[in-house]
Amino acid sequence: MNEIKIGWIGLGNMGGPMSQRLINAGYSVTVYNRSKAKEEALKLMGAAVASSPRLLMEQVNVIIIMVTDDQAIREIFTGDNGLLSSKKTNGKIIINMSTVSPGISKEMASLCSQEGNDYLDCPVSGSVKQAEEGQLVIMVGGDETILEKARPILEHLGKLTLLVGSTGAGNTAKLAINTLLAFHAQGLAETVVFARNNGIKTEDLITLINNSALGNIFAKIKGDAILQNNYKAAFALKHIAKDLRLAKQEGLETPMGETAFKTFQQAEPALGEEDIISIIKYIA
Ligand code: NAP
Repeated sequence: MNEIKIGWIGLGNMGGPMSQRLINAGYSVTVYNRSKAKEEALKLMGAAVASSPRLLMEQVNVIIIMVTDDQAIREIFTGDNGLLSSKKTNGKIIINMSTVSPGISKEMASLCSQEGNDYLDCPVSGSVKQAEEGQLVIMVGGDETILEKARPILEHLGKLTLLVGSTGAGNTAKLAINTLLAFHAQGLAETVVFARNNGIKTEDLITLINNSALGNIFAKIKGDAILQNNYKAAFALKHIAKDLRLAKQEGLETPMGETAFKTFQQAEPALGEEDIISIIKYIA
């Protein structure tokens, strides 16, 4: 058993399999999820459960967070029973892997340092399959010395962990990558719809793409989802809509950026809970 005690907050589509990998690697893991039902699977694997972020903070050395957005981060850090409501703690490393704004990372890192705790922003590229297989790409903002302490843990989650700058830089890199993800999803959807409207079978078009120089893992996985009419969220469309809002706040004003922003904002009310590639239903 590894001596480091890990606290994990957020057991959604990503946080569930990621935290399970750390249990399987032999770490002592204590979990907290806002809705309690998601803690059950982790309990069965041997995880302890904390009833609030504050209690979690008091019980572990390293806290990893994988939740939806800036608002969730604010509540987890500064809520009544939030991480920073515990005055008994210092010397903790808090690793925020959620896709959030660079601004909230800078704000929370500053609050952490006032109490003698360290903060890294470590968002990830890759989805549920890569989370299950420990093949995520992790981009880091923060202090190199702190990253080196956290690296042995992160290596169980990702195939690459790259320091890209100071606090918030990981979040900025992630917003850039997700802008490209939005272009890929919208591009694949528009291509399939255009071909279909002109008499080309979707199955044939996907086969052609996958065997061409344009084929990639994203087109393969999402092409299969289109063929199976399976839009269950691996990466919910509401999350890419959120990421494009954040990218716009950071100055994304390019022609494709503007188009993707508008497309996903307009699709979100009807399709937000479905997968990102359900954008094809909006395009069609
Ligand atoms: P998800 O399945 O929707 O899970 C969201 C998690 O956040 C749940 O545990 C949820 O708790 C928690 N949460 C939301 N609001 C909260 C609040 N106010 N206080 C406390 N907890 C709160 O999301 P996900 O797909 O795992 O994504 C998590 C993050 O990773 C997002 O920032 C997303 O953009 C990013 N990401 C996702 C993927 C992907 O493919 N899915 C890939 C890369 C990055 P409840 O269970 O109580 O709702």
